[in-house]
Amino acid sequence: MAQKDFRDLVTETKKQLEHLRVLGVEGIQVSLPPAIHVQKVKTAPAATPSVPAPAAPAPASIEAMTSLFGEFAPAPAKLTKSTETFEQIHAEIGDCTRCPLHQQRTQVVHTEGNRKARLMFVGEAPGADEDIQARPFVGRAGQLLTKIIEAIGMKREEVLIGNVNRCRPPGNRAPMPDEAATCKPYLLREIAVAQPEVIVVLGNTAMKNLLNTREGITRLRGIFQDYQGIKVMPTFHPAYLLRDPSKKRETWEDLKKVRDYLDASKDTPQRGTRDE
Ligand code: URA
Repeated sequence: MAQKDFRDLVTETKKQLEHLRVLGVEGIQVSLPPAIHVQKVKTAPAATPSVPAPAAPAPASIEAMTSLFGEFAPAPAKLTKSTETFEQIHAEIGDCTRCPLHQQRTQVVHTEGNRKARLMFVGEAPGADEDIQARPFVGRAGQLLTKIIEAIGMKREEVLIGNVNRCRPPGNRAPMPDEAATCKPYLLREIAVAQPEVIVVLGNTAMKNLLNTREGITRLRGIFQDYQGIKVMPTFHPAYLLRDPSKKRETWEDLKKVRDYLDASKDTPQRGTRDE
């Protein structure tokens, strides 16, 4: 192959891989001549948890077959339905000391709401009010989130609300990658139990952790992403909207897409096992 053709091929392949990475694909299998090795899509480096992660749901078996010429046919990854309960997960978390955040927290803040919810919201970590009340999103940002939920015609009790981290970071800083990596498996296990149809990730930290992407929220907000067959809508964090109310308009646009998707899928059973 001419050198230029080869360069073009590499450039095109890189573009395709980048596109898949943005969609959350962590790796692909390639069907290549024996001398060429399996290639892996670059994703954000996973932080090493300080302790072995608890049994998380089986990772997505994403099998995107490609030829050397970049013909991708990604198979949709599906989340395996989990049979454990939130109570079991919360009992396992217990009085958690697995990461340094436990040192300054008052209480562990678990995911709350309707465990058969069609819609889930995921934030970053508890703030001061949440730390005191042991409930997610109950402070000012939480009150705005409640209004956002009501604006799309739902009640707060109808949805599921959680965070990547369950302990308040000092001074409300963002959780460090190793802190997020330690706590995130419990959230993923809850998602595997509840299997919502749509997850709204609020802000950069939640989005990056769930989608395992390096892209920023400004780039991906408003565009449906995929987490193991579940639609994921990234949008701005309500705390950011409190600081910059001009961003509420874009958030409303994002949430209208979620409302429209849920309305359209209402009469189409998505997951036969949901109500078991
Ligand atoms: N911000 C979050 O990300 N989560 C909460 O629970 C409260 C504020």
